[in-house]
Parts: sequence; C-alpha cells; structure tokens
Amino acid sequence: MEHDHILYRLRFDDLNGHRIHVRLRIPQPDPNGQKLFLPAWIPGSYLLRDFSRQIESIQAFSAEQPVAIQKVANHEWLCEPCSGPLDIDYVVYAWDLSVRSAHVDDSHAFFNGTSVFLGVNGQEQQPCLVHLAPPPEKEHWKVYTSLPEASSYPEAASRHGFGLYQAPDYDALIDHPFELGTPYYIAFEAYGVQHELVFTGLVPHIDLERIAADVKKICEAQIALFEPENQYVPVLDSSDRYVFMTLVTADGYGGLEHRSSTALMAARNDLPTEHSDPTKKTKGYQDFLGLVSHEYFHTWNVKRIKPAAFAPYDLLKENHTRLLWVFEGFTSYYDELMLWRSGIIDQKTFLERQAHVIGLVHRTGGRLKQSTAESSFDTWTRFYKQDENSPNALVSYYSKGALVALSLDLYIQYHSQKQRSLDDVMRLLWQRYGRDFYRGHPIGIAEDAMPALILEATGVDVSDLIMRYAEGREDPPLQELFALHHIELKAVVKDPCPTLNVRLKDQVAEVQLATVYELGAAHQAGLSAGDIVVAVDNLRIRSSAQLQQLLERYQANDTVTISVFRGDELRHYPVCLAAPSADTFELNALP
Ligand SMILES: [Zn+2]
Repeated sequence: MEHDHILYRLRFDDLNGHRIHVRLRIPQPDPNGQKLFLPAWIPGSYLLRDFSRQIESIQAFSAEQPVAIQKVANHEWLCEPCSGPLDIDYVVYAWDLSVRSAHVDDSHAFFNGTSVFLGVNGQEQQPCLVHLAPPPEKEHWKVYTSLPEASSYPEAASRHGFGLYQAPDYDALIDHPFELGTPYYIAFEAYGVQHELVFTGLVPHIDLERIAADVKKICEAQIALFEPENQYVPVLDSSDRYVFMTLVTADGYGGLEHRSSTALMAARNDLPTEHSDPTKKTKGYQDFLGLVSHEYFHTWNVKRIKPAAFAPYDLLKENHTRLLWVFEGFTSYYDELMLWRSGIIDQKTFLERQAHVIGLVHRTGGRLKQSTAESSFDTWTRFYKQDENSPNALVSYYSKGALVALSLDLYIQYHSQKQRSLDDVMRLLWQRYGRDFYRGHPIGIAEDAMPALILEATGVDVSDLIMRYAEGREDPPLQELFALHHIELKAVVKDPCPTLNVRLKDQVAEVQLATVYELGAAHQAGLSAGDIVVAVDNLRIRSSAQLQQLLERYQANDTVTISVFRGDELRHYPVCLAAPSADTFELNALP
C-alpha cells in the first residue's frame, strides 16, 4: 500500500554536519518530466527565505538508473521524463536556530517541512508519507509532532516513535514541524484533547507541572471563547493532539503558528523553576505565557480563519494582504485578554500591559506615515526587513493592530450596552470561515469585508473606525474610549532626564546610535544612525548607562557637544537637549 503514495524517507546520519538526508519516492511521476519545488517562505513569517539554498546536493533515479535533474528557477527543479517510479535523493543543511527552518546537532533535530519536503508539482493534493529513522546511536530519541502516525501501515510509528507518519496533502505535510531528541515533556488534556509541552535545551529544575497548569487554563479559555456551547477543539480536523515545541536559549523569544502545533523560542530565565514562588509570575513568565496564548489563538485566527489571499497560499512568491491587522493585531489583543480572562493575570496587570503597548505605539513616529493596512501589505519588504530608520517610517500591525482591536472592542461594548463585543466577531468569523476550512471549504475573508462582518456580528457600525485607524493613520481615541468604561488613560513622564531622542546600542566598550528619531534633538543637530559616540563635552563615553548618567547633569535646552566617529572621521556636534516627553502611559480603573 505504501508503494502507492509519495514517500519521504529521512535519515540523520550526519548530526555533527547538521545534515538531513532525504529520499523522495514518487510512484507516478509526470511522464513529460517531473517538476519539483521547495517553498520560498514559511506561512506565518512573511519574508522570502529561499529555503532551497540549503539543499546541498540533489540527484534523481528511476529503477536505479540516473535521471537528469536540473534547476529551472530559484526554487524549482525539472527531471527528464522517465517511465517507472522516480526517486529523488537530496541533502538539506540544517543549522538555523530559529522556529522557521531546521536545526540539527547531536542533541536534537528540529525541522519544518518547508525546509525539508520537496513538493511534487501536480500532485500537491495527493496524500503523502514520511518515514523517520533514528540517528545512529540515538535509538533512545523520541519524536514529537502533531503529524498523525500512519497507523494503517506496517511501518507505522507508535506515539513519539520513529517510523511512518502521514499527511492528507502537501499543505498539511509542511504544517506539522518535528522535534526529535530527549526534551523535557509534559502533557495535559483540554476539553478531552491531548496537549503536549516539549522543551528543548538545558533548563535546570524547570517546573513543568506549573507551566502545564497555566497553559491549560489559557487553552480552555480560548476554546470556550470560540465554542462556548460545544467546546470543540479545532485541531481535531487535522490531528488528535496539539503540540507546543519550545527551543530554550539564553535570550530567545518568538513563535510560529501551525494548524495543530506551534514552534516557540523562549529565554531560560523566563521559565519558572521548582524553587520559584508559585504565587508570583515574573514579567518574563507573563511574557512567555503571552507568547503561548498568542500562538494558540492563531489555531483559529490565521490557521483556519484566513484572508482570501492565503486561501490557498502561493508558496513560491509573496502573498499580499492588507488584513494582518486582523490576523496579527486581533491575535495580539486576545493573547493578553485571554491571560486576564483565564486568571493568569489580574485586571491591574492587564491594564499595565495594555498601557505598555499604547506607549510602544505612541513612541513610533512611523505610525503617522504608514497605516496598519499598508504595513500589512508591505510586510515582505518593510516590516520583515527593518533597519535603523524603521521606527521613523513603519508601524507594527501587531501592536497598533492590537490597539485597533482594543478600540473596536471598547466601542462595540459601549454601543451595544455591553450586549456584544469583539468575541461575537471572532465567533462569526470562526463559524463562517474557520470551522470547515480543512473540511473542504477553504474560503478566506475578502480584503474589504471586515466592516460588514463586524456589523453583522454585533449590530454596531465600525466602518468609520476601520477607515481611520486601520486603513488610515490616525491614532485611535483611546482616552475617550476608556473613559466610557470608567478607566483613565494618562501620559506620564517616566524619566526626567533630558534626552537626545535616539535609540542607543551598546557595543564592546563603545556606544552606537542605533536609531535617530525624526525631528528629535540628535536629528536636528546632524547626528546619524551608525555614529559611534565617544564623548559628551569632552568626557569619554563607553556605555549607554554612562551616557545617560552624564546627561542627568544637564537640563533640557542646554547645549552639549557630542563627539562621534562617523566611519573613521572624528566629528563634533553641538546638540540642544530635548525635554523628556510624556510617552509612558498608565491605565487606572476608576471607582
Ligand atoms: Zn502572530
């Protein structure tokens, strides 16, 4: 039976060389010559990454005889016509410690299908099989993935075992990453469905039980939000489990969503130990749980509820949508809201964390030049390719999108006398677009559909808000909206020190200007991003802390001479120091 299906056999014979050996068998190749491709990007991370550049070698065979294969485009190969089954042998170099590609060494192997599985042109809808063999001397390793075991085949993997796994089509095949090794592991059930937590990396005394208990609360709150009556767990359309796989490093942070799993990076010190105070959640632990909440929310919002532009994805080029303020912005709002709703944080902490986001957006001058819709469309060339000028030129569709979601929620709740909220919008989107996405109804949201969908779900017309704050560049009127709910929003001066209006970057024993904010003190004086600050009024500067301490001796409107190296030229700039601005925010619930 398994001879009828596209089959990928993976070997990890050279862990030290970070290589994955793949033999792809195509039982019925195109008689006119089989074309193959590798995705140029991974869904969820909107940048062309050219994964094909990590394929070191590739050869084709039919009945043991060589078949000519050649590159015909950046991410495509063509084999000469052959009659019988076609075998493709290739080697993938896997040494990128991120959630987006593949990382293999003698301690573990992590990979996404977009880095490893060549697509067979014309057969993308065919079921496929993956066979994993344990690396030499690593028979004790286990396998963690949400890709189902190929249980009806003789070589089927057992749970967490090596052997055969199966996917109904190529789109599913590349949406279940794998982690192989001996990670920390704990599982829990949320509404009857197995959820697995896998942590790779050294984390002495990690408190798995505590993390599992907290993550379970978040998962259950989200399931109940979308399906308050049935508590249907969405992953059941593609797996019998959900897997959180986390790579732990000294300072990692980030995640990538998949249909029944997520790959995360976390900082070691953000994870609680068995000795930490169970009544306290550090900011780092709150951030980790916020990341978990964010990626899990994507199980509904972007993995099943999608923009029409992603239904289906074109994996060989950029897919443009103006709607990432819905898919990343709403998700960023809900990741925090669900922390509060599930009892992970209290209302005071929730408001503090919202105030932090308000400050982040407010301090970004680029929000007045780019809308969240524009930021979304251009993400491939701008948001994902940030440089020293980005804070002056760009807005984040994550953080400003979250403020748009917050504004819509406050507005809808007020104008429906608290009978409706953004929850009703999410439930309508789920029922109409998401629930059956992988059950034969892959329909996405049209670019201009959101105002009508929100009106339908809530009876509240928000088209003007969307036009101004999401499609347009205006700041949402959060102070007024919060006041309607008896919450005071105010801007405060956090640090009274006069300022250069720059972002600093510490180098080894020197300080670089990372960003010069537009129209700020440094900009007006002629300083530039990239300049190395060596002295202020003839006193040597070696660190950003030292620079800050020195500036505390001055007042706003004092002029100081900043000496910098631009390239290897020493230059001196008189700078009139700016007053600190009220750009930190507080949210206080009024009695
Ligand atoms: Zn996201």
